[in-house]
Amino acid sequence: MGWITKGQLRVFVVVWVIVTATMAVSAQSPGDAGIGDDFYPGLGNGGYDVESYRIEVVVSDDLAAITRAKTTLTALATQSLSSFNLDFLGMTVDAVRVNSADARIAREGREMTVTPQQTIPDGEAFVVEVEYHGVPGTDSDGDSLDFNNGWFHYGGGVLVASEPDGSAAWFPCNDHPLDKALFDFVIDVPAPYVAVANGVLENVEKDGERIVYTWRMSHPMATYLTTVNINTFVEQREVTDSGLVIRNYFPLAIAEQAAETFARQAEMIATFEPLFGPFPFDVYGVVVADVPLGFALETQTISLFGRNVISGTATGSGASSESVIAHELAHQWFGDSLTPATWRDLWLNEGFATYAQALWTEATLGRSAADRMMVSFYSQISSPLDAARGTAAPGDPPPDALFNRSVYLRGAWVLHALRLQIGDEAFFRFAARVCVAIRLQ
Ligand SMILES: [Zn+2]
Repeated sequence: MGWITKGQLRVFVVVWVIVTATMAVSAQSPGDAGIGDDFYPGLGNGGYDVESYRIEVVVSDDLAAITRAKTTLTALATQSLSSFNLDFLGMTVDAVRVNSADARIAREGREMTVTPQQTIPDGEAFVVEVEYHGVPGTDSDGDSLDFNNGWFHYGGGVLVASEPDGSAAWFPCNDHPLDKALFDFVIDVPAPYVAVANGVLENVEKDGERIVYTWRMSHPMATYLTTVNINTFVEQREVTDSGLVIRNYFPLAIAEQAAETFARQAEMIATFEPLFGPFPFDVYGVVVADVPLGFALETQTISLFGRNVISGTATGSGASSESVIAHELAHQWFGDSLTPATWRDLWLNEGFATYAQALWTEATLGRSAADRMMVSFYSQISSPLDAARGTAAPGDPPPDALFNRSVYLRGAWVLHALRLQIGDEAFFRFAARVCVAIRLQ
């Protein structure tokens, strides 16, 4: 075997360069159109991880439309990306840029495929800007889309309730709780309306007939927990003994009754903190939409209720408003701070929050009252009228009936049974440790 000649070496090097360059090019690929949730395969997207969203929305004078919006995502590529998807439903897209350069888009249903001019290398940060306008829930022709959660205009105001997949109806996103991110909301509304969103109110700027509210959520948040509420709200504020600011936003006409309805939140926080650990965010409170709602939602740091909460029932479940207020508060630990990786595990949200209703009852009315509540939960899930859904295992809900009774009531019973089995001391040590472990991650 002889030595390789200089000429042969040159050919070898050229071939090697071509082969490795080809390999590098072939390693780039489109990001997946789903994040890998086997329960809802289309939700979320693969190939990147969003670090932050800045959502700027200009709302029309009659509150019925978004006249101009821009969402800026800062993300990290987790593969070499030739293209990637955002979840975005309806509206009219005016421009899309990746790292300041115009990008091509293709839209189909909830999926918007973005093809940048240059491949985004694996591990690199990139910035996507999407400009759009329209009426959330409609397409560019103004036709109504088949969606049942997200942004709602209700005449005198706007509310946003998005669990599990409504965020894509008003901002382009990676719409799955596996990809939590930080958020800024810049909401421009006609005076004298107030815009309320998640987190801390950073700035209010009045400019003629318009007011711009800037809110910052500086803890990671799942997209379904985002909210924007617009009305002529009044703010009511208090501080808990542990120093947490509670700021509530109530419609002017019912502000007094609402303040009474929500008067025990500081006491609830004082009850839950020794059990679950310190409140997980900078601030808490609620917003009451000026419309009756059949649900309440644990939107992060600012739980959402309908105005029927002041008449004693906040949801269609039959539970008292006070009990539902405790439920949404408990979600801030279980669901918001600690979030399931797949929607199949929703009972980890709802079972804990429902059991917290019994814990609040126990703290205020005693153990026998809490036992009666658990017995009533049991009778609801053993009712033959609800056999089809009520008997499903809480960890295996039907995908078309995710929010069925079992995930709430059987979920709560899983925890109660565990408590009865291992005793209070071990049970509550476990609950607090789960919360602390998550916060340390
Ligand atoms: Zn709940």
